[in-house]
Amino acid sequence: MTSATATSSASAARAAVDAVFPQGLGSFLDGRIVAGSGEQVPLTAAATGEEFTSFRDAGPEGADAILAGAVRGAAVWAATGAFERAAILREVSRTVAEHAEELAVLESVTTGKPLRDTRVEAAKVAEMFGYYAGWADKLTGQTIPVPGDWHTYTERVPWGVVVAITPWNAPLFTAGWNAAAPLAAGNAVVVKPSEYTPVSTLRLAQLAHRAGLPEGVFNVAAGLGGTVGAALTSDPRVGKVSFIGSVATGRRVAVAAARAGIPTVLELGGKSANIVFADADLDRAADGAIAAIFSGAGQSCVAGSRLLVERGVHAEFVERVAERAARLRLGDPLDPATEVGPIITAPQFTTVTSLIEAGIEDGGRRVTDAALPARLTGSALAGGHWVMPTLLDGVTPANRLETTEVFGPVVGADAFDTEAEAIERANGTAFGLAGAVWTGDVSRAHHVARSVNAGTFWINAYKTIHVAVPFGGFGDSGHGRSSGPGVLDEYTQTKAVWVPTRAAGAPFPSLSY
Ligand code: NAD
Repeated sequence: MTSATATSSASAARAAVDAVFPQGLGSFLDGRIVAGSGEQVPLTAAATGEEFTSFRDAGPEGADAILAGAVRGAAVWAATGAFERAAILREVSRTVAEHAEELAVLESVTTGKPLRDTRVEAAKVAEMFGYYAGWADKLTGQTIPVPGDWHTYTERVPWGVVVAITPWNAPLFTAGWNAAAPLAAGNAVVVKPSEYTPVSTLRLAQLAHRAGLPEGVFNVAAGLGGTVGAALTSDPRVGKVSFIGSVATGRRVAVAAARAGIPTVLELGGKSANIVFADADLDRAADGAIAAIFSGAGQSCVAGSRLLVERGVHAEFVERVAERAARLRLGDPLDPATEVGPIITAPQFTTVTSLIEAGIEDGGRRVTDAALPARLTGSALAGGHWVMPTLLDGVTPANRLETTEVFGPVVGADAFDTEAEAIERANGTAFGLAGAVWTGDVSRAHHVARSVNAGTFWINAYKTIHVAVPFGGFGDSGHGRSSGPGVLDEYTQTKAVWVPTRAAGAPFPSLSY
């Protein structure tokens, strides 16, 4: 693919959207797209910076109607037998897999994420529905022995309506991540995608409905955070809110939900440390450091944005990473050879570039070249928000980059002398999402893994995640988990049932609880 194809990015986005939504964009309720009544929201193709379409925010009436529909859907879905729910979710998984390429292209042309990434994400969404379909008919309660003549047992009860608020960096992936488990547990979901990137979520809901989900079970409320998001997270009809996004918004959402008595699951930001010891396989560690920070153009919550390298190999290792960073190919998202795409939103581009400046002001030394290749500047891609993969060395604890999440392709490196110092540096932020260690010493690897405060930690690896494995944060990175079998506990409540086993009944205790 040449840069000539890139010039068609906005029209490619328009064509891809028109092909699946000929009636235009909006929200998704009762199996169809419904137009909103709020303000018009423009959508921009990130690769070229051109507006390609717009949609109307659902508005307060829209949010209200979607919640009413979701309440109806929740009743139908909860009354659907567990085996039938499992069969339908397996069909959703199959349908997503069949449409994986279409979903990947839709995601790439609308968000600018490289096709090589969106293909993986679309496949993972199919996997999520398959995995949780497997749990849908295996949710059991317990029988619990108690003193006296009682039969006591528990049941798992869905919350009803689960609202999932998702970010722009991985819209399709996070929609699947936060919809599949609640659906398997018998809830209806209302996904509120980022106002920058609603398209793939709408298509996912449409496909899920076509695969057999009843009306009102998988809904999408498209619109702004301050309008639709705020309305959905403070409505007493909502049983639970899951939120993926920034710390500041997550706290706002948690406070609003708490005021309405709604519990939350929060997956927030990170500032993960990638620790490299001198005894590591340095080539593999350098490849890992590149994947850790530059895939997704660093717009990843688990990005390895702090590179801590043992002093003896620090200079050489930084050199290796910088060489690899310089070879990364930025380009048209639809080109399978493209490794790094643009920053997805205009405000985020400003944040990233100003944080690079801050990192340099605070003493960081730029090791990588900032100039964009002619392939980008000499084509329609010049209008996109491109940032070259950036490595700053000498990023000390006093540097703003040490603790501030950039959410862009920017890594700050520094040297350390001892294992204890590396662990202290890794734990020197309020975040606790992820981290990694690279070493040939197995005991040290496990000691570091145990010592770093993080919900996910990799040894001689980075960024592998799977729906079967719990994922979530410590500290400012959030609470609750969004994958693994334990998530079914997040999306069900436990009901205890007591029945006396003697005809005359058991005595009533005097306990006043
Ligand atoms: P954001 O917090 O700006 O927005 C997230 C979502 O919240 C959007 O849908 C937005 O419309 C909505 N929102 C905004 N205000 C709201 C309000 N008052 N009430 C309800 N909803 C509201 O985050 P973002 O910029 O879209 O995403 C980037 C952030 O997400 C980064 O901090 C990143 O680390 C984090 N993130 C975390 C994970 C994770 O799994 N931990 C995954 C992806 C992204």
